[in-house]
Amino acid sequence: MKLIRTVSDMQKFSLDCKRKNQTIGFVPTMGSLHEGHLSLIRLAKKRSDIVVVSIFVNPLQFGKGEDFDKYPRNLDRDAELLHKEGVDVLFYPSVDEMYPDGKILTEVYVNKISEILCGKYREGHFKGVTTVVSKLFNIVMPDIAVFGKKDRQQLFIIKKMVNDLNFNIKIIEGEIIREKDGLAMSSRNSYLLDEERESALMIYKGLKNSVDTLKKTKDVEKTKKEFIKYVESSPLNSVQYIEVVNSKDFSIVEEVDRDLYYILTAVFVGNTRLIDNMEVEIE
Ligand code: AMP
Repeated sequence: MKLIRTVSDMQKFSLDCKRKNQTIGFVPTMGSLHEGHLSLIRLAKKRSDIVVVSIFVNPLQFGKGEDFDKYPRNLDRDAELLHKEGVDVLFYPSVDEMYPDGKILTEVYVNKISEILCGKYREGHFKGVTTVVSKLFNIVMPDIAVFGKKDRQQLFIIKKMVNDLNFNIKIIEGEIIREKDGLAMSSRNSYLLDEERESALMIYKGLKNSVDTLKKTKDVEKTKKEFIKYVESSPLNSVQYIEVVNSKDFSIVEEVDRDLYYILTAVFVGNTRLIDNMEVEIE
């Protein structure tokens, strides 16, 4: 596996692949890799000749007081995992390489859907995401890029950005990979103390109940209330939001018809903020 640390070397490598008619599959990550990330890499490998994974903890998408400094970083372990998966290139730029003067003046922003749910509570978060993903797309120049449904809102925003700005890149969606008991895998799970880990499982169980309740009653308000009551029955949990959105335009709904919806939530378990979501088909 090749380790590339500069923008120009990465672009050179990608142009070389293109000259050889090799397709590039790209998986952007912030590292501290787990099976969720590896499942995306396997999807990329199936669909392209060359697989590039980036590890970049992007300061632009962390707000003041968020966990940028303490975000788990473990390059040696990550590189070993990527090597085992048969990844061709690890792109691992420094913050200075990505933002040479400490900041950049150009921003990429997807209106409306960046302002709700996580966007409402993490100001500037999605602007940071879409800006860095645009940069990474121009640096890696992939044919396909793989994103996980775990970050459902991010996935929807990126697909909208790719469509609106005519990036010639196919976005592939990876299923949410969960621990055996159901907790969605996340690099942030490593923050959880033992009793918080137990409490965090209620997010998964609560979402499963919500899917059943919404299917049965079609009552959005009742579904949300039940979720909050159940999850917050643990004193360690505090629900930041629970919403139902339409799968077509990602608008928050108060009522449901026959259609596909997503139920999305963010929950603080102690000081750790976790997100999760599930699909629900209303018949
Ligand atoms: P992150 O390193 O958290 O920025 O995530 C990098 C990519 O991995 C994103 O596309 C995430 O949606 C995806 N991802 C993170 N956790 C999971 C998971 N449990 N299952 C599937 N994909 C995931």
